[in-house]
Amino acid sequence: MTAAATPPAACDPRERAALLAQAVALGVPSDYGRRRGLRPIREPRRLVSIGPDIHLREQWLTPHAARAFARLRDAARDDGVVLQVVSAFRSIRHQLDIIARKRARDLSMQDILRVSAAPGYSEHHSGRAIDLTTPGFAALEEIFEHSPAFAWLQQHAGQHGFRLSYPRDNPHGIAYEPWHWCWHATRRAR
Ligand SMILES: [Zn+2]
Repeated sequence: MTAAATPPAACDPRERAALLAQAVALGVPSDYGRRRGLRPIREPRRLVSIGPDIHLREQWLTPHAARAFARLRDAARDDGVVLQVVSAFRSIRHQLDIIARKRARDLSMQDILRVSAAPGYSEHHSGRAIDLTTPGFAALEEIFEHSPAFAWLQQHAGQHGFRLSYPRDNPHGIAYEPWHWCWHATRRAR
């Protein structure tokens, strides 16, 4: 018997403010959100497991997004396409750790923020965003756009409420991410 894994805890408003202050101390511009046209993203109150990712870490989404993703993955499988999870929910604290590690490797904040959202602004905080890969393609590499999985997603993801968040030349100044899809509640999934 295994104990049910516990979802990561959301931070309270005080902790959130402290984490955002730490991000600014690391060099994130204090007007980052306004300049990039990005809104602060709240962590959800409820997360449910969607099983392990390709590195065997348990991953989490909000209940609605998790159901939509299960339908998406099943529909892909029915068409012979394997969708694998690289990353789903990430906390503000986790995003701060990622940025801090990159700063410690002497990357400039400008370079870091081209590929990573600032803590508090990553869609992954919402529990609705997911990074996907498929066998035979390196995870989180642009080459994913040439995979059958990406072609399938472009054709079918919208029917399940998922949209590509960062297409080429997006207005947020975030690098093209063919692997990053976000579920939006606005459209009723079939
Ligand atoms: Zn992502």
